[in-house]
Order: sequence, then structure tokens, then C-alpha cells
Amino acid sequence: MRATLLHGERDIRSEQVADPQLSGTGKDAIVRVTAACVCGSDLWPYRGVTPTDEPRRIGHEFVGVVEEVAPDVAKVKAGDFVIAPFYDCCGECANCRIGFTTSCLELGWFGSQDHWGHPTDGAQGELVRVPHADGALTVVPAQPDDALIPSLLTLSDVFLTGHHAAVSGGVAQGSTVAVVGDGAVGLSAVLAAKRLGAERIVAMSRHASRQAVATEFGATDIVAERGDEGIAALKDMFDGIGPDAVLECVGTKESMDQALRSARPGGQVGFVGVPNGGPELPMRTMFSTNVGVRGGVAPVRNYVEEILPEVLDGSLAPGRVFDGEFALSDAAEAYAAMDERRVIKALLRP
Ligand SMILES: [Zn+2]
Ligand SMILES: [Zn+2]
Repeated sequence: MRATLLHGERDIRSEQVADPQLSGTGKDAIVRVTAACVCGSDLWPYRGVTPTDEPRRIGHEFVGVVEEVAPDVAKVKAGDFVIAPFYDCCGECANCRIGFTTSCLELGWFGSQDHWGHPTDGAQGELVRVPHADGALTVVPAQPDDALIPSLLTLSDVFLTGHHAAVSGGVAQGSTVAVVGDGAVGLSAVLAAKRLGAERIVAMSRHASRQAVATEFGATDIVAERGDEGIAALKDMFDGIGPDAVLECVGTKESMDQALRSARPGGQVGFVGVPNGGPELPMRTMFSTNVGVRGGVAPVRNYVEEILPEVLDGSLAPGRVFDGEFALSDAAEAYAAMDERRVIKALLRP
């Protein structure tokens, strides 16, 4: 089968690799990928920020059709259309049951290893072995229309990560919200805040095409300034004190600083940007302002069932974040387009 491999800095190749086989644990399934995509987090190794020692499989967001299941798999069967979360989880342990499948006691990662140490497939390929089929996969009730595929794919990571930012920020009916970051996760956070009933949503963005998607998703205001100017602009908009919630969807020192200093006293920062080199939280400032910080890696598997019906009936269309579609064999071009910010998020079809 064909799969995407990262060989080194800005060196992505589409190659023939061996088809995955069931591992013998009795719990896995092989899924034929209908659509996958490139994640902002894939760009860190692509750009060489995290080094690549030897060629490796990449990608962790996908939807597809089950080809084969192991003997102990009960909830998923061959022919089912499924949504995978960006990680593997058992669905049964204490952490999975409590709502944090990203801390599953048998956690595994696509493009890396499963809980038992078997290699796992990257999602940017034709077939993917899912180590805990019953725990990780969500079965879509019927074969979906092709037009729904992009929105279903966002339930693998990006939309539900934005949703986790909004939930972590305490967004509720009538909230005022600012979103730091205009990538696909930030835009998803705008839509998630709107869905949760936010009354006013400020998207912080300098790019016309991203501002347009933010507005479509429910942003009521756009702020292009950053740093002190951006904070001043936000405070001006909300009685001189700032919004109730700030959703941090970047992961840099500057973006977290922006978020912490923008929220109103007693407000909350919901963060989902993968922290990239800090910062330490400024405890003295937080003591003075009572601003709370909550968030982390999004337990998307715990959110899928709540959101899926709205995607299936068309009332929620988070797939709009995909503005570029590429053949799986053109993965190198998909990465380049995202790296150069020519597209917000690249969809890949085998
Ligand atoms: Zn991702
Ligand atoms: Zn678990």
C-alpha cells in the first residue's frame, strides 16, 4: 500500500510499504482510509524543529471503512464507516471512563507504537491498524455522503480540539470570548464557542482569508493587533477589562502571554496549543487577577458522540477549515502548502 513517510527536514515522500496485519492482541482492526489530513503539529517535525533520525510514518487524523477486525472486537465490524481519534485508547480504563481518553492506561499513538509496543501506522496512508478498535473508533450509522467527509474528518482532531479549548475556557451561553490563533484549531474554537452560546467572539487574525472563515464560523469582531496593542484593543471592547474567556490555540510563549493578559479578572484561559518552549505561568499575575488556566491535549474521543449528530444533519459544518485537497501521493505538496500558509488545512485522499 501507499503511505507517507517523513525522511527529514522538508523531506516528505509517498512510498510503497507493507500492508498492516492484525497483531494478535485480539482487539485491533484494519481500516481503509477514506480521507486523512495534515495537522499543524505535523509541521514541527517537517520544519526540523523536532529532528527526524530515520524515515518514519506520519499523520494521525483519519476517517475510513473497516476492512478486518480481530476476534475480540464487538462494537465495530467490517464495512463500518468509522472516525478515529488522533490517538488510540481502550475506552474501558478509569481514565477513559472519567472522560480523559488521552490519558488512557493503554494509550498509543498513530505513526508510533501501540500500548504493547507494536509499531502503528501513520494516518496518511491507505490502510491503518487501530490497536483498540472498540475503544477508539466511532461508527457512523450509515455510509456518509461524500460532501460530509471533511466535516466528519474534523472530529478526528481539529474541531474537537477547538471544542476542548472552549469547554476548558468555560464558554457558556452569553460568554464573551477571544481566540488567539487563526490556524485551523483557532478557527474551530470560534465555531465551538458559537455553538456553546457565546454572545461575542473576537478572532485575533491578520490574514484576510482566515478572517473570512472566522466570520463565517461566528466571530463578531476581528482584532489584527498583537501583543500590548492586541490586549489594549480587547480590553477596550469589553468595558476596559477584557473578555470572559480567552482560547489559546497556538502554543508559543507569546500567544500564552497574550491570552493570560487579555482575560478579564476572574476569567479563564482555555489552552490547546501544543506548548512549544514555555512559558512558566506567571503565578503572581494570576494571583492578582484570579485568571484561571485549564486545558491540554484534547480527549476528542469523549466528545464525538455529542457532536456527530449535528455534523450528520448538516447543522454544524466544521469541514470548512479544509481549503486545499490533495492526492495522498501528493503529500509533499500538501505539506509545502500548509508550511507556506497557502492553505489553512490540507485534506488528503488516497
Ligand atoms: Zn492533529
Ligand atoms: Zn483506556
